[in-house]
Amino acid sequence: MELSWNQVDEKWRSKWHDAKDFETDPNDKPKKFITVAYPYPNSPQHIGHGRTYTLADVHSRYYRMKGFNVLFPMGFHYTGTPILGMSKRVQANDVELIEAFKTLYNVPEDKIKEFVDPVKIADYFHEEIKTGMIEMGYSIDWRREFTTIIPAYQKFIEWQFRILKDKNLIVQGNHPVGWCPNDQNPVSQHDTLGDVEPDFTEYIVIKFNIEDEIIPVATLRPETLFGVTNLWINPEIVYKKVKVDEETWIISAECAYKLEFLNKKIEIIEDILGSELIGKQVHSPTSEDEFLILPASFVTSTTGTGIVMSVPAHAPYDFQALEDIKNGNQRDVEDSLRNVVRKIQPITIIATEGFGDIPSLDVIKRMGITNQDDPKLEDATKEIYSKEFYEGKLNSNAGEFADKKITFVKEEVKEWISKTGKSDIMLELTNESVKCRCGTKCVVKLLNNQWFLDYANKEWKERARECFESMNILPNDIRTEFFNVLDWLRERACARQHGLGTKVPWDNDWLVESLADSVIYMSFYTMAKFVNSGEILAENMSDEFFNYIFYGNGDSEIIAKGAKITTEKLEEIRNEFLYFYPVDSRHSGRDLVPNHLTFFVLNHVAIFPKENWPKEIVVNGSVLMDGKKMSKSMGNIIPLRDAVRKYGADPIRLSILISAELLQDADFNVEIISSIKNKLESMLEECIKFNNPGNIGIEPEDIWIQSRLSKLISEVTDSMEKMRLRESLHHILYGFDSDLQWYMKRANAKNRDDISGVLNKVISIRVSMLSPFAPHIAEEMWEKLGNSDMVSKSSWPKEEEQTDDRAIQNESLLSSVMNDISNITKVTKITPKKIIIYTSDNWKSKAYHKILNGVISGETNVGAFIKELILQKETENVKKDPDFVKKTLKDILSEPTELRRTKMRAGEIDESKIISNELSSLIETDYGIKLQVFSENDSEKYDPKNKARMARPYKPAILIE
Ligand SMILES: [Zn+2]
Repeated sequence: MELSWNQVDEKWRSKWHDAKDFETDPNDKPKKFITVAYPYPNSPQHIGHGRTYTLADVHSRYYRMKGFNVLFPMGFHYTGTPILGMSKRVQANDVELIEAFKTLYNVPEDKIKEFVDPVKIADYFHEEIKTGMIEMGYSIDWRREFTTIIPAYQKFIEWQFRILKDKNLIVQGNHPVGWCPNDQNPVSQHDTLGDVEPDFTEYIVIKFNIEDEIIPVATLRPETLFGVTNLWINPEIVYKKVKVDEETWIISAECAYKLEFLNKKIEIIEDILGSELIGKQVHSPTSEDEFLILPASFVTSTTGTGIVMSVPAHAPYDFQALEDIKNGNQRDVEDSLRNVVRKIQPITIIATEGFGDIPSLDVIKRMGITNQDDPKLEDATKEIYSKEFYEGKLNSNAGEFADKKITFVKEEVKEWISKTGKSDIMLELTNESVKCRCGTKCVVKLLNNQWFLDYANKEWKERARECFESMNILPNDIRTEFFNVLDWLRERACARQHGLGTKVPWDNDWLVESLADSVIYMSFYTMAKFVNSGEILAENMSDEFFNYIFYGNGDSEIIAKGAKITTEKLEEIRNEFLYFYPVDSRHSGRDLVPNHLTFFVLNHVAIFPKENWPKEIVVNGSVLMDGKKMSKSMGNIIPLRDAVRKYGADPIRLSILISAELLQDADFNVEIISSIKNKLESMLEECIKFNNPGNIGIEPEDIWIQSRLSKLISEVTDSMEKMRLRESLHHILYGFDSDLQWYMKRANAKNRDDISGVLNKVISIRVSMLSPFAPHIAEEMWEKLGNSDMVSKSSWPKEEEQTDDRAIQNESLLSSVMNDISNITKVTKITPKKIIIYTSDNWKSKAYHKILNGVISGETNVGAFIKELILQKETENVKKDPDFVKKTLKDILSEPTELRRTKMRAGEIDESKIISNELSSLIETDYGIKLQVFSENDSEKYDPKNKARMARPYKPAILIE
């Protein structure tokens, strides 16, 4: 009969729900507080979203079985602008969006009508996502659910903001932000198309001039001013003569547009063709020198001012553009001017080891560059820039800066020019094409008197660094990424003009930005339960109340009175926080490393004492669909709820987890789903078949398989602790199959009928370890195994305190001999009539263990072993067979260290006895003949091919006739 996955899901979901199994209150057990970044409800979740939540759920369920009191809560993040933008598009009757709601998300038409109200959009998808989470079997305590626009949460955020302001960590000032000119709002990663974090580049603008008109150039390398030979314009560009504050500048139109956002007063006077500027002389801002303006095609209007200073000795583009004029490649230059240009020589100002007199020329020659449109010039530029930056020194052409290292001199030169009043600063987006979600190209804006979180604050960063250092980060490789983020982080706008959320408490024109109100909300889960039950009312939650709950400050009687609750209730709320905090594990996707996860730590270290700093961060990669990125435009998004209906919750959970470890991208496809379904269905059948706990035999294979089972438990537990869930799942689902096959083979060869006890034990342990991953079907299996309790309430299996190393060695000897026999028959194509096995002489076993001990303590020299073995009576035979030492050493060295240790613990084993007693039945079953076993030193042995002397411990000699 076909298994109905949906029925199994529903059955166990309702049992968990009725038993209130995931509602967690403080108790005497140790706790784990596991959280995931809450969802932003502007669409239903798809399979990709399922990954982070499933990881956290597996983590929670695992810890529950390990005996912890686990709290796994969930909230919904309504704050921000995207939902507002959607409701505006619905108001404007946007056909594309309304179609998407209808066809992609299956939203009923009467609901879509309500979407003119942004909160209705959020509410609708909130319920949709929540239902999906329940259907996925997530073990969430729903009593603690909240949205970020409920009044109690707003009170909490106001408290958070006042605390930060009191600590001077929210500052008012003029700082650059990424900005959408259309929305008139700052933009960060979550507001841009493709989730790009807007990043800035700071240019130094150096003001050359032609009489009263400024010809500004923007550069990243102000120190190269000493090597300037001319300026470049692009003759194709129509420049603008612009009044910039009190000065007249000639710049590109794009530059004029950008300057407006940088607080410049801009007034366009007239157009001026690039070609009109060719051949004009400009004055240097810092000396009496004059320079020609020359044409170059590599100059663009979108970078800097659209005018570039030429430093041919150190900038390959400049060198090549000059060459192009000199040799006639640049045609729009008159001959008289060309003759003047031919006299221009590069001025070298930086000495760097490995470069000659003119670094540009060196690299251009080496790369075979012949004109300024060659894309290799980009590489040439990068090479020189980085080598000179780290290793170069200015030479005597740089006047007072001679002998200074480039790495340090940039700021000094910047300062020096700035003192002359002949320079300025210009900020640009490093990634020029960042677009807002509304489709508008973003710019850098200098915001005046805005509210910023002072993430540039060095002490604050230092505390955050300390927290990151003390914290468990999974996978650990990502730790340095957090340190890098801390390094480049600077002031961050924390207020917005539009959107849903909480008003900035002291400045009601502004709303708290969405990445600023989602950093310490994990602490709110501890009180949300009391808010939802109506035990405390938002209107009675004051700063004093929060100070008591989170810090224990103030007099409990006065505060309880103010909050209109009993002192006991106040204590209960405080204890809830004290019990569950700190966060034991924070799960999130990798895209949140440079923002949310870092801000989460920064805000925790600012607001909470050290004992409440987070303990762990777990970061995961994304989910691909058939190897491709999931996206609306690719049409390959599967809504999570649809997938659950179609395949069942557990097959989806396993498919997401089994193809990748944490940071890798997981690949979801239908083949994986169906192979997992098959595996789980066959496990379910085994549960029905082996539902009798029965007695467990004491044959060697019984002892062996229990040792192997113990090893499996320890391997799975070890991978679980490291959140290596892919590895755990492989061990649980497939890792034991070959052991089980061997066991069955052994038992069948002996015609045993008393093995159901072992099989029941094996399958029970596999099911209980499977249950955090596939909770519904595991409950079903557990029930079929005859248990009356739920597996989710059982304990995580424990490994045996001592595994039987000797049993493991014996079986591995048997299986390797069986393998060797089968290989020999395959190669020689013999149908065996006789199989004879010779076990090695006793002295060899003694020598083997001496060599093994030696290897484990670090000795690997053959000569040393031979010398030592010969000296001892029991192994003196080595002198007759020195080759034995060499071969044995090779045997041992080719094995993993772990195996060497097991062998050492097992000690000498009686191979001849094991093989005679245990291998005969196998040989009879597989080959239908009797096995003959001789010891190497048996004088009566049948050994026509003189094979016995080849026997070594664990490698008996084999003769097949
Ligand atoms: Zn926009």
